[in-house]
Amino acid sequence: MTATVPVSWEAEVDLVVIGGGVAGLTAARTASLRGLRVLILSKGGPTDTSTQYAQGGIAVVAPQGDSVDSHVRDTVEAGAGLCEVEAVRSIVAGGQAAVAALTDLGAVFDLGRDGQISRTREGGHSTRRIIHAGGDATGAEVQRALNAAGLPVLFGAAALRVLTGPEGVRGVVAMSDNGFGVVRTPAVLLATGGLGQLYASSTNPPGATGDGVALALWAGAAVADLEFVQFHPTVLYTPGGVGRRPLISEAVRGEGAILVDAEGESVTAGVHPRGDLAPRDVVSRAIAERMRATGTDHVFLDARHIAGFAARFPTITASCLAAGIDPAAQLIPVAPGAHYQCGGVLTDTEGRTEVPGLYAAGEVARTGLHGANRLASNSLLEGLVVGERAGAAAVERRGARTDVEEIPAWTVDFAERAVVQQAMTEHASVVRDGAGLGIALARIDAARSVVSPLDVAAPRAVQPLDGTGSGEGVFDAARTLRRIEDAALTLTARALLIAAADRAESRGCHTRSEYPGPVEDQRHSTAVRLGADGALGLSIVAVDAVAVSIGAR
Ligand SMILES: Cc1cc2nc3c(=O)[nH]c(=O)nc-3n(C[C@H](O)[C@H](O)[C@H](O)COP(=O)(O)OP(=O)(O)OC[C@H]3O[C@@H](n4cnc5c(N)ncnc54)[C@H](O)[C@@H]3O)c2cc1C
Repeated sequence: MTATVPVSWEAEVDLVVIGGGVAGLTAARTASLRGLRVLILSKGGPTDTSTQYAQGGIAVVAPQGDSVDSHVRDTVEAGAGLCEVEAVRSIVAGGQAAVAALTDLGAVFDLGRDGQISRTREGGHSTRRIIHAGGDATGAEVQRALNAAGLPVLFGAAALRVLTGPEGVRGVVAMSDNGFGVVRTPAVLLATGGLGQLYASSTNPPGATGDGVALALWAGAAVADLEFVQFHPTVLYTPGGVGRRPLISEAVRGEGAILVDAEGESVTAGVHPRGDLAPRDVVSRAIAERMRATGTDHVFLDARHIAGFAARFPTITASCLAAGIDPAAQLIPVAPGAHYQCGGVLTDTEGRTEVPGLYAAGEVARTGLHGANRLASNSLLEGLVVGERAGAAAVERRGARTDVEEIPAWTVDFAERAVVQQAMTEHASVVRDGAGLGIALARIDAARSVVSPLDVAAPRAVQPLDGTGSGEGVFDAARTLRRIEDAALTLTARALLIAAADRAESRGCHTRSEYPGPVEDQRHSTAVRLGADGALGLSIVAVDAVAVSIGAR
């Protein structure tokens, strides 16, 4: 007899949103305004999102001296030949309305002396179009405004599986401290953020474990362009550190800090005319190459000569001091860290995936906006615009079947997190090569074991050491979540490695040491799907074909 999931709580709604960052909350708000019953599941707390940490701002076409065409051009140039131009145009054109909706909700952006929203310029933008809040605390203000909207969020509830029938989505299996739950729903939006925790060093919060990519693959949807991971060159390095690492922003180099190796030699000398202030991917590659040459896992920023460092960079100073480093007296150890996933679940510009009723928005989605590299500050924009559209699109699923009988137990493959992170960090970071990608995949495959979430969650049989109670009936939520995240990381890593191995060129933020530049006949997207036999299959998607194929479904 097949085991079934013992469900301890149930709900029924019109839309389940998985994720409480900018994309999920924006979608949930729109869907609620259109009369849908919505439930948001968020495995963390209200600020455990990448949205909370966004610093620079939101790229939005400025009312004067700017145009949609200009923002599209900048985005497409950064995307290195893989942007879907119509998707870019559509999302960029939606920016002003999306920001107006956020302002109506109470978000406050920094104003200039003229009383208008002030705009700054970032790398790759041809004009000043980045709006910001609280100086460098834009994401926190976006998150605050959306959190204050009073949307129905179940914090500490993780989605484990999307349930489907022949006609599409029927529900979600989730877990909380109270055990497993099932939510019957015809529509699910994945808004789970990124996959930074695939790597030992990342700017992403600890919950960025690629859950949305895995949930989509398990549900039968395609993911694309996963090989394009943007690395930030200077993330604070601490030996053995895990989880989110603080950014040491470019501004520190702008004020004169220099990148050196353990011998005190410049890392970027002779690499680029702008030296330490070269574009991010150039600096990341220079650091990666120096680390490889010297056999270390970090380099240093020397900021000791900058007068008034602590006053100019209070947040960075606090992060360094917390790690036991005084920037006024010591070198700051840094390494490139995984920062942003450019690819993800294949969607159209309204968030629809290939599975009816399954939507994706925000960092987890691949709409075609970013192509092979994201233009700075385009991600909050995408979360707002596509989040709103996906919330509206979910109306089309109202009334679809949601009957869920007993839920058969399922199994997942997982490798220990440290194995995945080490393999990915060593072989699938800033600079990759075919042999290394093969080694990483083999290592992860060799470490895989099969587990049922039911077995992990089983009540502990042993007497707790403190003698309180028998331990029976205790649902081990933390251990179950950890395993589910490990399974998501394992599947996401394998999909990424397969896509990266297939891309025999250097393009955007994917650098292969054997192939110095882009190759015209590889100017396509790479889609990965999970077959019924459990194998990952790869196919080619022509650029500009996605909206057409999903729209024609
Ligand atoms: C340090 C930093 C600085 C940045 N600066 C900028 C910037 O200046 N401008 C810009 O445009 N972008 C910036 N970005 C990128 C941008 O912040 C993110 O891409 C964006 O906020 C992602 O929003 P999201 O809604 O897709 O996901 P997130 O905000 O990451 O939210 C994901 C949510 O999903 C939940 N979740 C995940 N898995 C599950 C699951 N299985 N079950 C239930 N819940 C789940 C999480 O708990 C969380 O609530 C920055 C990112 C970082 C890390």
